[in-house]
Amino acid sequence: MNCDDITRLLDERALAQLSAAEAGAIEAHAAQCPECARQWLASESLARFRADVPALPPALREQARRLHAACETPVVRKSTRRPLLFGSLFVLGAAATTVTAFTWQDASAANR
Ligand SMILES: [Zn+2]
Repeated sequence: MNCDDITRLLDERALAQLSAAEAGAIEAHAAQCPECARQWLASESLARFRADVPALPPALREQARRLHAACETPVVRKSTRRPLLFGSLFVLGAAATTVTAFTWQDASAANR
C-alpha cells in the first residue's frame, strides 16, 4: 500500500469497516510514514469523537437534515452584510463613547 491507498481507505470508510488485513496494512505503512500516521491518528480521534457523541433525538435530527439541505441549495439574495457591519460599528462606537464618558466623569469626580 502507498500513501494514496491509505488516504483513499481512510476517506472512504470508517475505521470500524476496515478488514483486519486493511487495518494491518495501514498500521504497517503508518509505522514508516509520518504523514499517514498523522492521518490515521486523526481518523481514530474522529471515530472516538463520533462514538462519544450521543444520537440526536429524531426531531432534532430532522431539523439538522433540513438545515443541511437548505445550506446545499443555492440561494440568491441581496447582501445584508454592509448594513449589519455599519450597524455593529455604530453600536460599538456608542458603547465606547458611553464607557469613555463615564470613565471621564468618575475621574473628574475623584479629582475634586
Ligand atoms: Zn504514507
